Amino acid sequence: ARPLVLILGDQLSHDLASLKQAPADSVIAFCEVEEEGRYVPHHPHKIAMMLAAMRHHAQELRECGWQVHESRLEDPDNLQRLTGEAERLAALYQCDGVLVTRPGEWRLLDDFLARREAGSVRWEVLEDTRFFTTPAAFAGWAEGRKQLRMEYFYREQRRDTDLLMEGSEPAGGKFNHDHDNREPIPDDFHAPPPPVHAHHADATTREVLTLVAARFGEQASDEERHFGSLENFNWAVTRAQARSDLAHFLDHCLADFGRYQDAIEDSDPFLFHSRLSAALNIGLLSPQEVCSAVDTAWRRGEVPINSAEGFIRQILGWREYVRGIYWTRMPGYKRENRLEASRNLPEFFWTGDSGMRCLDQAIASTREHAYAHHIRRLMVTGNFALLCGVKPEALCDWYLAVYVDACEWVELPNTLGMVLHADGGLMGSKPYCASGKYIDRMSNHCARCQYSPKKVTGPHACPFNSLYWHFIERHREALSRNPRMSLVYGSWRRMKDDKREALLQQADAFLARLDSAADYGSDAHR
Ligand code: FAD
Ligand code: SF4
Repeated sequence: ARPLVLILGDQLSHDLASLKQAPADSVIAFCEVEEEGRYVPHHPHKIAMMLAAMRHHAQELRECGWQVHESRLEDPDNLQRLTGEAERLAALYQCDGVLVTRPGEWRLLDDFLARREAGSVRWEVLEDTRFFTTPAAFAGWAEGRKQLRMEYFYREQRRDTDLLMEGSEPAGGKFNHDHDNREPIPDDFHAPPPPVHAHHADATTREVLTLVAARFGEQASDEERHFGSLENFNWAVTRAQARSDLAHFLDHCLADFGRYQDAIEDSDPFLFHSRLSAALNIGLLSPQEVCSAVDTAWRRGEVPINSAEGFIRQILGWREYVRGIYWTRMPGYKRENRLEASRNLPEFFWTGDSGMRCLDQAIASTREHAYAHHIRRLMVTGNFALLCGVKPEALCDWYLAVYVDACEWVELPNTLGMVLHADGGLMGSKPYCASGKYIDRMSNHCARCQYSPKKVTGPHACPFNSLYWHFIERHREALSRNPRMSLVYGSWRRMKDDKREALLQQADAFLARLDSAADYGSDAHR
């Protein structure tokens, strides 16, 4: 029996479950299909990164002795749909079924299982073993718990993996060193620039960049062109490049990662962040090797515990936790909208011309690099959408489209749960809502902005300020009984009536302007 082993664009690891189980005479298939490139308008960086990485990986597997078929995007007989193309290839090579590892989206898993039910071709779906946990293990942990707090999940993960543990105790005496990780960037302090990959010296990557520019990027027709361009393309597309990005991070950024983790800098999109999410998500790096390298750096005394712990928590804690939430709560999770948000996405999420410096710089970094670090996603674009009541499906589509690392299993819980609090507090015990004061404290944007974070009403008032109180008032019913919100509701109650009224009017006027903007909610950007 010889299967067709279908390898998806985010499964580019040599130790993939389906590869490990494949008989030596299997046919390995990589299917580049139009359907996957367009179901949201993915940034050209993301499409190019994935296609180039797939083509390099296909070549590596060929060199390892596998028979490999690549359905290229430009092939005339390509059916341009994943399941259809895989079944066509299975018939072409006389394979007796399709073997695949769990995909990164419920939508695809559902398709695969539906094809299995249909019965004309045998589909076998294996568990993805490239994580610290599995959906079944997460479900076991979640069972019977009233609240699914990441912190408790993370502590168990630390004990299970022995990462940053000293015997049975956490290194540095506590599991979480977040308290030390909230410093803004001092003036005249610069993070080292990321290493540059010589993509134009490599024929495979060059070919992909030309193809993507023509189909989705700067040379595509207006209807086919996606947000962003290929300029600044500098993502790892091979394991060797991903390993060199990891080495750069360990040597030059990790030591300062912790204390500046939440900082935002007007002109530096990357700061001390690792930029490794895409390489991790598509399988060029494993979360185990990344965490273990950081653990080693700490044990050797090269980096402080707050940096090592802050970083490992993101991967061993948050990344595994959101994946568990995704697979145990889908498909219903995607439809959650507990705060009943109904606003369309403001057009300036695509144009970056809101006039609010923090927002426009976050969107500029997104357009230019298909990247924004976590605090920009959470506390700038995300916070703004939360305060305005942008509906989850619109915001989720945006986050899924614009970032190089976007995969639904990680994007959805972060957007719907963490940012929009649309899951009723399953992920976060309180919404991450903040006024302009927070952005002013953590960034150097406000000095360059037409608005003032210190003003709450009037033409120069920072819109985040009145929107914040509007949000608090709008959701009084749902949030005021939450003990973690009691201080905020106390301040709101104690505020003088006329000030409260002025704040609400200021926000109402802002929201009315947003709603009446000429092409608001249009699809012109795509
Ligand atoms: P670093 O700051 O260097 O962090 C190290 C690693 O930790 C990251 O590479 C990533 O693998 C992991 N990580 C950090 N935070 C999270 C988190 N909240 N959830 C899961 N993993 C995390 N991350 C994605 O990989 N794909 C997404 O589609 C995605 N969508 C997001 C949407 C929103 C609204 C928000 C608030 C966050 C999202 N994140 C997503 C999480 C996080 O913002 C990115 O992983 C991070 O910014 C990537 O940059 P980095 O590699 O430099 O991260
Ligand atoms: Fe953003 Fe307000 Fe600061 Fe302007 S003043 S940069 S809108 S937080």
